[in-house]
Amino acid sequence: MTPRTASPDGSPSAAGFSGLGLDTRVVSALAALGYEEPTPVQREAIPPLLEGRDVLGQAATGTGKTAAFALPLLHLLTPDAEPRERTRAFILVPTRELAMQVAEAVHKYGKAMGIVALPIYGGASMETQIRSLKRGVDVVVATPGRALDHIRRKTLRLEGVRTVILDEADEMLDMGFAEDLEAILEAMPAERQTALFSATLPPRIAEIANKHLRNPVRVRIDREVVPAGSAPRVRQVAYIVSRAHKMATLGRVLDVENPTSAIVFCRTRTEVDEVTETLNGRGYRAEALHGGLSQEQRDRVMKKFRANTTDLLVATDVAARGLDVQHVSHVVNYDVPSAAEAYVHRIGRTGRAGREGVAITLAEPREHRLLRNIEYQTKQKIEIAAVPTVADLRARRLEMTRASLRETILAGGLDQFRVLVDSLAQEFDVMDVAAAAVKQADATERDGDPEEIPTVTLRPERPTRSERDRAPTPRAGSRRHEAAKAGARSSGGKRERITPEWDVARLYIGAGRQAKVRPADLVGAIVNEAGVDPRAIGAIQITERFSLVEVPDEIADGIIDTLRGATIKGKRVPVRRDREQGGAG
Ligand code: AMP
Repeated sequence: MTPRTASPDGSPSAAGFSGLGLDTRVVSALAALGYEEPTPVQREAIPPLLEGRDVLGQAATGTGKTAAFALPLLHLLTPDAEPRERTRAFILVPTRELAMQVAEAVHKYGKAMGIVALPIYGGASMETQIRSLKRGVDVVVATPGRALDHIRRKTLRLEGVRTVILDEADEMLDMGFAEDLEAILEAMPAERQTALFSATLPPRIAEIANKHLRNPVRVRIDREVVPAGSAPRVRQVAYIVSRAHKMATLGRVLDVENPTSAIVFCRTRTEVDEVTETLNGRGYRAEALHGGLSQEQRDRVMKKFRANTTDLLVATDVAARGLDVQHVSHVVNYDVPSAAEAYVHRIGRTGRAGREGVAITLAEPREHRLLRNIEYQTKQKIEIAAVPTVADLRARRLEMTRASLRETILAGGLDQFRVLVDSLAQEFDVMDVAAAAVKQADATERDGDPEEIPTVTLRPERPTRSERDRAPTPRAGSRRHEAAKAGARSSGGKRERITPEWDVARLYIGAGRQAKVRPADLVGAIVNEAGVDPRAIGAIQITERFSLVEVPDEIADGIIDTLRGATIKGKRVPVRRDREQGGAG
């Protein structure tokens, strides 16, 4: 079992973090963010990093790895002691999106210490970045291409760098940044601390680690820690949604599932409070339960839940640990838990005593790998379902309206209304009178139609670039769309897993070897500018004057639009569908 590092009865927040030896300012920032205890990767990686050791960490997005490297880094930066003339920490990440996220996280954690973090990525103005760098930046978070640009121009000075972090190293290699990565590491001062985080550790990563890390401490959180057969046999479903649509998805899923009693798990206190508030606004009776509540408050919440005056308990892991609840119909993971062990513990609250239970997980696209790891460890399948559509919701509500009308009819006592029906029947068809009454009773009419939540389609498990270049082109006439649609059509019940196949379109990009374009530049531009999963990019051909890139046909036009407004190697270049290919297929 995970050692309990914070007591569930409202003891000082984020207590587990100070136990790891972190600066009190960092710990109080975490408390303010609602973190209650370190995740497994944080528990394992923070102490060696604080000691100045190099670390080789295998951890996917969603495990809390960003804080695992950012917190020790902030602790070790002592801004008071040294004027901020030099950059002292350098974090390398594969994409612009991640650069912004990580810089934001560093800023959030290090605000009280006055730490300045700057994201540096391609496609943005070089001048603005240079100006910011000149003003002084403690922590630079950069993508490889742009980082190298600044290093070569000497607009990013590395003499002061003492800590280097490589985040999502496997992803960087997949995008073709191996050479850039080498060049950047070579340019770093020899006396430094280096940490490398990667979801997978293929031989190429091991090579880099061997060459650039000194006697690193290895941290793995995806090794098997879940005892065989310990996960309950309940229906396990996951919805893949972007962060922006999570709350709407939670509401939609709850509306369709209609749980009799449920616990919704969140990562932080802050999130527990937000989710509780939103659910109450949607007409649910939800209560928050987290480590920040007094024993008295907790007792009150639990009493309500047991007496069924509360439908939903929204809780953090820490708060739920001491919970004495026999059975709930649904466990909802608003976030993927940071380790399989926590997942098993959470879903153990449903499906007890041979009763039907459902475990639902909302995962962001980037957390897909974490989900796979949980499946692997529990030896149980988590079905990826399509987010219920507005049509699903309507169908579900009509079903409920029908059921409640049947009950009303069977209960009798309708005589006083017959007179009314009679009088209306003089004027209208009885069928119309009945339909109008149903319309009024139907919740869909009352609440109005909600917005459609965009589906996120999953890409196949990551092939490496070289595998991909060798792979035959996927066939035309994809079945993927049909599978996706079938999933969306069926309401309730089992849904199809989306088959990762797609039609391929070839893009012509008017810059090639002459313009010093490399595959990584093209992948980088497409991933960063158009937000495309690097695994969806197919074969790349670079000729003297132009390049050809295979992308999923479905999103080809969107990519073209975006790339036309962007720059590749600092220049605007023509982008269109390749004419040789003869149209869209
Ligand atoms: P990452 O794996 O770094 O992408 O982090 C995933 C998410 O977990 C981020 O939204 C973090 O804010 C959050 N997080 C990281 N550490 C903790 C923690 N100890 N407690 C609660 N949430 C956390």
